[in-house]
Amino acid sequence: MSFDLSARLTERRAAHLYRQRPLLQTPQGVEVQVDGEQLLSFCSNDYLGLANDPRINEAFVDGVRRWGTGGGASHLVTGHSAAHHALEDALADFTGRPRALLMSCGYMANMGTVTALVGQGDTVLEDRLNHASLLDAGLLSGARFSRYLHNDAGSLRGRLSKAQGNTLVVTDGVFSMDGDLADLPALCAEATAAQAWTMVDDAHGFGCLGAQGGGIVEHFGLSTEQVPVLVGTLGKAFGTAGAFVAGSEALIESLIQFARPYIYTTSQPPAVAHATLTSLQLVREEHWRRDHLAVLIRRFRAGVSALGLELMDSPTPIQPIVVGSSERALALSAALRARGLLVTAIRPPTVPQGTARLRVTLSAAHTEQQVDRLLYALGQAHKELNDE
Ligand code: PMP
Repeated sequence: MSFDLSARLTERRAAHLYRQRPLLQTPQGVEVQVDGEQLLSFCSNDYLGLANDPRINEAFVDGVRRWGTGGGASHLVTGHSAAHHALEDALADFTGRPRALLMSCGYMANMGTVTALVGQGDTVLEDRLNHASLLDAGLLSGARFSRYLHNDAGSLRGRLSKAQGNTLVVTDGVFSMDGDLADLPALCAEATAAQAWTMVDDAHGFGCLGAQGGGIVEHFGLSTEQVPVLVGTLGKAFGTAGAFVAGSEALIESLIQFARPYIYTTSQPPAVAHATLTSLQLVREEHWRRDHLAVLIRRFRAGVSALGLELMDSPTPIQPIVVGSSERALALSAALRARGLLVTAIRPPTVPQGTARLRVTLSAAHTEQQVDRLLYALGQAHKELNDE
């Protein structure tokens, strides 16, 4: 017997769930060429418009001259360079935590951290809308794994009362497909009362929230005791690649000893770490990027409400428009594309059944006129679909 892969693929296509990769022929930016078409993009995570910033590009080239191209080995062998180390020190300072550990990507940071902290006999409690990497990590950890209702401290409390062993409460800071903020003051209070630890993955909050771009922890003014395990990624607002975990000396040393996805992988190219030092400086200093984003978010939300479309409760650059079926989300995305706009449809299993959506993301690199263009096209596309 052989694997019947083509039947699975056909089934996926028939359910409107088939994924395709748009082929980008220009660097990241708001105006891109995709599959030969010039499009205005509203679906990148380059929230601050730094992914092709000339100063970061220059730092990257400088990093290649100093450090070459490859990481060469894992961190524990000969892959840990002074470039990586300098970025770790800068990230510890940025997050106000004693130490930070640089990882090659966010998926691995989450996988490595959860599995290093809990195992058999322990408990891991996660928001049901957490990012796939956190859910996968919880499953793989071998700990008792349970998902509480989205952002619901009462639901978390119920699960905490039945928890055994070391207990880790895990949540996205900004929910990646909805754009809303975790209610961290309430969630952390429950966790602390139950002597559990809170781990926050703020992949989409760093750079965007907080006066210095310090993310959801800065936004709510939370201490290291309230959020002992803080994860950030560098491929979104920072515009480069990789991820980090910030926390106590003992946490970081434990990850170096026990986080298998950290131990058994090649370090990220040191030039990327070198370039990220410049990126971090820009994230902290260029406040105008967050101010401009706030203007664009307000403008977009007011425009969508005026069109009579439903918005989610999001104060962040992630502004999804939920349309329901995968078929309708694809049709709306295609209608926008016919008008020169790139907004990808997000479908199950990335989001729950019946909540397929257009995940509109705004960037500090967009102009107000470009947001108006999107609003106008959304109005037209929506009307066109309703009239069909
Ligand atoms: N956490 C969240 C919330 C994410 O959205 C993502 C990626 N989209 C990741 C982790 C994974 O990060 P990376 O892309 O660096 O693997």
